[in-house]
Parts: sequence; structure tokens; C-alpha cells
Amino acid sequence: MSHDVIALTKDLVAIPSVSRWSNAPVSDYIEDWLRSNGFDEIERLEYTDPNDERKVNIIAKKGSGTGGVAFLSHSDTVIGMEDEWGAFDPVIRDGDLYGRGSCDMKGPLAATMVATASVDPAELDKPVYVVATSDEEIGLLGAKYVVENSELLKTSKPDYGIVAEPTKLIPVYAHKGGGRVMVTAHGVAAHSSSGKGDSASIKLAPFLAEVAELSKKYLTDESYMNREFNPPTNGFNMIYGDNGISNITSASATCVVSVRAMPDARFEDVLEEISDLAKSYGFDVKSGGGPAVYTDKNSPLVQSACAASGITVPETVPYGTDGFYFQQLMPLVVLGPGDIDVAHTIRESVPVTELESAIEIYKQMIADLC
Ligand SMILES: [Zn+2]
Repeated sequence: MSHDVIALTKDLVAIPSVSRWSNAPVSDYIEDWLRSNGFDEIERLEYTDPNDERKVNIIAKKGSGTGGVAFLSHSDTVIGMEDEWGAFDPVIRDGDLYGRGSCDMKGPLAATMVATASVDPAELDKPVYVVATSDEEIGLLGAKYVVENSELLKTSKPDYGIVAEPTKLIPVYAHKGGGRVMVTAHGVAAHSSSGKGDSASIKLAPFLAEVAELSKKYLTDESYMNREFNPPTNGFNMIYGDNGISNITSASATCVVSVRAMPDARFEDVLEEISDLAKSYGFDVKSGGGPAVYTDKNSPLVQSACAASGITVPETVPYGTDGFYFQQLMPLVVLGPGDIDVAHTIRESVPVTELESAIEIYKQMIADLC
């Protein structure tokens, strides 16, 4: 166990934690490491996923009292594709540390661990926290579970959260949220030669045509955009299917509409208009989703992030994070080492200099806010 961020990142990368499988081994390592570095209050929240894999979330606190700053990361990764590269054999080449999760986001997690480990709790007015969630890559399931079940976060009430996802160390004050409407039409399956069927697909088709027409409005009308984001549009998308066979009338056909939420961009209006339209056809409708992550640029958190990173203008990003759920508990900024463009690829890497700078930035923010 080392305070060296390179060694720690390599150790975390070398313990595979692809979302399809259990993240218990890497979570055990994180818990032990934090426990031996001054985190004396650690909550371990576990659940069994639909594949019967054990999923573990670690919530660790250092220092006493309430409030303070929480560093939020996930410990799962996308698949290794290890036939093509040494996904779980981390190496450093030309100043970059390569391996699955080096950038998204075991390297950033390691930087938060080293930064908080170096803090003397006697010098803290308010506590610091390290949170490592499961299943971020497959629907933010761990973060949802933690927000619903963490007694430690509910009683300690951190003032601020730093989502350490890779932003090239540029403070990010907002990212898009999202929602979807799932529409199902029902019919009767029969051999098409029998004349007895009732095709769900044919029932759904006029609805699809209306949605296709509406999509033009959602993607071009300024009232559905927010120019603080790039792209400013809401990513309106529609998929559909009926698992069909050509000589059988379809028993059911489904259309899923999804949209990325931004403040003041009529996200709820889109979901409502699509839902109402589907109901007017008599289809089954299910919808859900949540707002964008958005923290005032002038808030103490974003200002502290800017001061610590030497960046004057904070940014927005189009991708989502665990912040989607954590924003229910605290205001957030996204700030971490690495470039999201190499995440999920066989070139995934993080610049070692950014890992080291991240530690200094996080320590500065702890000094400011705790
Ligand atoms: Zn990530």
C-alpha cells in the first residue's frame, strides 16, 4: 500500500472490475487502503445484481462532524478487450499510464485517495469523504443505491461533492441529465396467411411517423436548446422494434424515445408531449428520468475548483456521471485528470503529470472548503 499515485493506480487497474462481474475484490482493496490511511468511519453497501454478482459501494469518512467535501468516483470499468492490449497489465509509456480504468476512473479515484490520505484530521474543520460506487457504466446503479441507502451520507451531510471523472482538470459545473419514454403497442400474433392476426407494428407505425415529425422541432427549435452546452441540442433519439418474423403478425411493438435534459430547455415538455401522444393511440407508456447536473458558476464550490486548478472559465460536458444521483444530496463539480475521449478505448491512459496535479488541486480545495 503506497501513497504513490502511480503505484496505487496500477494496483487498482490490475484488479479487474468490469461491470458485468463483481467489483468486490477492488472494493476490498480500496476499503483496506482507506482504513490504513486515517478513514475510521467506513460504510460498505452491497447488493446482488441481476446476474447474481455481488456489487460493493464504499463510503469512507475522515474527520469528525458534519458537512465537508465528498470525492465521488466509481470502481467499475467497461470491458477490457484484453485480447487487443494489456488492459489489466498497467504500463507507463511516454509519461502516460495505460490500462483499463486508468482514465475512467481508477486513476482519478487514486488521486482522490492520495489527496485525502495526506490530510491530517486534526487540521480539518470539516470532514472529507471518499466514495467508490459500483455499476456506473451500466446505468449509475451503485450511485442510485448509495443515495437511497447511505446512512453515513444522510447523517454527515457533505456540503459539496467533487465528481472526479476525467475533465483534463477543467472544472465542469454542469452536465446533461436524461429521460426516456417507453411506448408499447399490443397486437395478436398469427401466421400472416391466416388472416387472423392483428399487427402491433402496423398500429405503432403512424405514431412513429408523428414522432419523427416532432423530432425536427425538438432538434431545431431554440426553446429546446441550451447554448451553455455543446452541442446545445437535446440528443432526441428514437428506437423501435418488435422482434419480428416476416410471416407472423407482431404481438407487440416497442418504441423508446430518449432525450438529454438541460436547464431551461423544456426536457419535461418533450417527455410529456410524447407520452400524451402515445396515450392518445391507447398504447402502454412508461417514462422516467431526471434533470441535468447544474451548479451555479459563482458558488463557493465552483469558485474553489477554478482557483485551485488555475482555470478562469468553468465548462459544461455532454456526458453523464454518477452526479445524476448525487446531486440529490449536495451541489457538485466534475473535476478530474485524464481525457474522456480515450476512455472505453484500447488506448485508455492518463497523463502521470495530471494525476499528480490533481492531488495538489484536491488538497487545495480541501484546505479551502474543509
Ligand atoms: Zn467514468
